[in-house]
Amino acid sequence: MEIGLITDMPTYSGGLGVLAGDTIRAAADLKVPMVAVTLLHRKGYFYQRLDSTGWQIEEPVDWAVNDFLVELPQRTSVTIEGRTVFLRAWKYDIAGPGDFFVPVYFLDSDLPDNSEWDRTLTHYLYGGDLHYRLCQEVILGIGGVRILRALGHQAIERYHMNEGHSSLLALELLDEEAARAGRQTPVREDIEAVRQKCVFTTHTPVAAGHDQFPMSLVNQIVGRREVEEMRDVFCCGDLLNMTYLGLNLSHYVNGVAKKHGEIARHLFAGYNIDAITNGIHAATWAAEPFSQIYDHYIPGWRLDNFSLRYAMSVPKQEIWLAHAQTKKSLIQLVNQETNAGMDVDILTLGFARRSATYKRADLLFADMERLKAMAGKSGGLQIVFAGKAHPQDTAGKELIKRIFSAKGLLGDSVKIAYLENYNMEMGKMMTAGADVWLNTPQPPMEASGTSGMKAAVNGVPSLSVLDGWWIEGCIEGVTGWAIGPAGETAVAGDGHERDAESLYEKLEQVVMPLFYRDRSGFIDVMRLAIALNGSFFNTHRMLQQYVLKAYF
Ligand SMILES: *Cc1c(COP(=O)(O)O)cnc(C)c1O
Repeated sequence: MEIGLITDMPTYSGGLGVLAGDTIRAAADLKVPMVAVTLLHRKGYFYQRLDSTGWQIEEPVDWAVNDFLVELPQRTSVTIEGRTVFLRAWKYDIAGPGDFFVPVYFLDSDLPDNSEWDRTLTHYLYGGDLHYRLCQEVILGIGGVRILRALGHQAIERYHMNEGHSSLLALELLDEEAARAGRQTPVREDIEAVRQKCVFTTHTPVAAGHDQFPMSLVNQIVGRREVEEMRDVFCCGDLLNMTYLGLNLSHYVNGVAKKHGEIARHLFAGYNIDAITNGIHAATWAAEPFSQIYDHYIPGWRLDNFSLRYAMSVPKQEIWLAHAQTKKSLIQLVNQETNAGMDVDILTLGFARRSATYKRADLLFADMERLKAMAGKSGGLQIVFAGKAHPQDTAGKELIKRIFSAKGLLGDSVKIAYLENYNMEMGKMMTAGADVWLNTPQPPMEASGTSGMKAAVNGVPSLSVLDGWWIEGCIEGVTGWAIGPAGETAVAGDGHERDAESLYEKLEQVVMPLFYRDRSGFIDVMRLAIALNGSFFNTHRMLQQYVLKAYF
């Protein structure tokens, strides 16, 4: 549904889209023959402004599609509510080595032949209501397969559904099987053939996060009898659940970290669900000063992220100097944008992600007096925040306001800045420029998380709750530090106090003393974050696992 390719193309909202982009970049590097399909999102996600109280104001973004993408002459169509909706595609090529490239196709319904309403269907990412969303999913899933055929991609062997938004593609593949057998409509025997072609990745550890639509709406929009007749495949009762559709029509299913695989096996009992832990595209997320170091000491790292293991041979001095540059750039940006008056010599925590309550961006403010005292006793503490709340997520918006009020209360004792309009470029500056990357999700809600992996390739250790990828990535005191207990599913409510206590304790007794009083020890952790985590939590390793375990 979304893909993050470059900052100025607002075709992504957050982690899911950035991961899609990083996956395709890895496919280009590794010459994995692949194409990607998404929607155009002509009106983008939204531009975030924050008023003086921290209340989020959403502004539209218009972008010049022509500046980034090439329009293709082929057309296809889908049926929505009995109407024919025409579609075109725009192409963006991701270049790999030599003349290899992976094309990304952006579906667009904004064509003069369509009704005014239908023209808006590919305008807004995660906008509108259930009705709008299901129309979009018809375009993505069914229109996606059809545009591939129109573009001449007849012999695709595997279809990877990245989250349930694209699951309707399985319906189109069922239709193709039926047509091949000379039938008008698919029957149960077609299911196995489609299953052999499909791979499904779930990204959401909570039941409510999975797309589902009332059957009445499905009948109205999709209007397909076999969806009714094969209700058990499309699940469940009066709802079409896109995740079950993906699960039932795929021969391989996975979660996005080992722990998330476990959670998914509980959520979807009876399905065989594997885990492939997410990654990031190292060459995209390593800041310039670090890329230069790697080019010098680890030539070839861009096309072989595993070799970041050899970061152990980079002199510590060089790592510290590179970090000084990335930190300076971030602090300059922060001071310019927010007038926070931050200081490059002070321990700087970074926290950036979608503002959703389970991410608990305010955990750090559970006890302001303690936070102040801690900063006063050591060499100081400052924190940079960023992140958008979904326009309909009032609780997420309130969370940003709470950070603003904490900022007011803490004043100069702990400087806080909240940068507006979090995007990929800012994500890169923040993950590279912070000294420590903070993450405080409520377990087990973080399926994987990837921003800490971006930090790792920039030698920035994580201080994070043991959830998602960090369960695998954290070696205490070696690659970073854990908040809260390991291997336990926290109980709502009482987990907060315990995690806040643990966060304060780690900061006060471990991280701050190491940063201020044992700089050489701190740089050891930085270097090990690169060598152990940068070399593993990348999309080169991830895609190779998909190729071996899922695709073939
Ligand atoms: C990396 C990234 C994310 C995802 O970060 P998480 O840690 O997985 O929440 C979201 N938005 C942007 C702009 C990013 O660069």
